[in-house]
Amino acid sequence: MGHRRRRAFQASLRYFVDYPGYSPAKSESALDRAVAQEAFIRRRFLHRNRNTSPYPNDRAKPSYSIWIREDDGRCERPPSGRLVGLSSEPQRKDSEKLAHEVIERKGECKWCGSGKIVKAGRDEGGNQRWLCNECRHRFAQNGCPPRMRTPLRTIALTHEFYFDGLSLRKTKRNIRKAYGIARSHVAILKWLNKYPALVAPFLENFRPVTGVEWNADETQVKVKGVPFWIWEVMDSKTRFLLSLIETDVSRTDAQAMTLFSNAKHLGGRPQVIQTDGLPAYNAGIRRNFWTPKPDLKVKHKVGGMDENAVIERYHNTYKDRYKVMRGFKAVPSSTTINQGFRIHYNFLREHMALGTTPAVAAKINLPFEDGWGDLIRWASYWRISKQRCGRTPSCS
Ligand SMILES: [Zn+2]
Repeated sequence: MGHRRRRAFQASLRYFVDYPGYSPAKSESALDRAVAQEAFIRRRFLHRNRNTSPYPNDRAKPSYSIWIREDDGRCERPPSGRLVGLSSEPQRKDSEKLAHEVIERKGECKWCGSGKIVKAGRDEGGNQRWLCNECRHRFAQNGCPPRMRTPLRTIALTHEFYFDGLSLRKTKRNIRKAYGIARSHVAILKWLNKYPALVAPFLENFRPVTGVEWNADETQVKVKGVPFWIWEVMDSKTRFLLSLIETDVSRTDAQAMTLFSNAKHLGGRPQVIQTDGLPAYNAGIRRNFWTPKPDLKVKHKVGGMDENAVIERYHNTYKDRYKVMRGFKAVPSSTTINQGFRIHYNFLREHMALGTTPAVAAKINLPFEDGWGDLIRWASYWRISKQRCGRTPSCS
């Protein structure tokens, strides 16, 4: 397909996905209407491009996906220019499908969760070593994550203690008391830097079903005595934290744009965003959510502490945690530890008002047995399998 033809094709698709007739649909007939729209656009598309269609021999080939959200009947738009199937299920990318698949794995391979392992000699201490026939890694069955000498259970519990509010040194003492495993607080800090950074990209694959109103706010913390801002976007119905970034004191428009861009990537499009009076929010919201379609407009509400109570409450939780740390010691560790806190808050910490975790409220049901231990395992399987999928054509 030549450049100009491709352009025409994509422009046509974009017109389809932007078509105002199918959104917002208030009745059950949303899917029927979407099907009708789809057929209409497909006919017109095929007519307009009758000489340039990428499917000259198969007139019924192009199909499109519209995902109708259960809550408000709004339609999610697929990324423009992509051809996918029409369904009432959310559309999933390959890496997302993989993420859903890895959490089912129960094999013994500690790298990829495969069951296809064979004996592969012994180490100096006479312990059995194993070889995985899927990912080709060699390892010992000692209950530790790859390349570690501390059991996964202990590392998981360290994360739970720390993100529940214990200090590093108290975490260290508790681990020693409970498991008889002595590790320095520096080793523990290294785990807390390593694993949230591993788990965060894995969890980005699970998209929350959010409500119609979001809250955004920022709070100040200090890193080595230098003030920084932590910005968050939270869905007020499920209390799911959609975005969390850390910036310097300037609080510019560009920073607010990044904040809402991350939130949009995960949570789609709300109807209302509640913020305080900081001018940067206006720019961030306009840049990410502006549209000429009246149905899809996002309303920006500016209010004080009372209107933003949901997120102010979260800040109290966060500050409780932060007080124990007495200020972060360095920028990189503060970034990953904030990500870790966000993961803990979204997926593992039961919310008092909801009676469940924000993730479950947002219809992300992960089969947790060991909290952080599961997350670390799944994220490591996902990372290895994703790399493999890029390399081997036979890998599905
Ligand atoms: Zn393996």
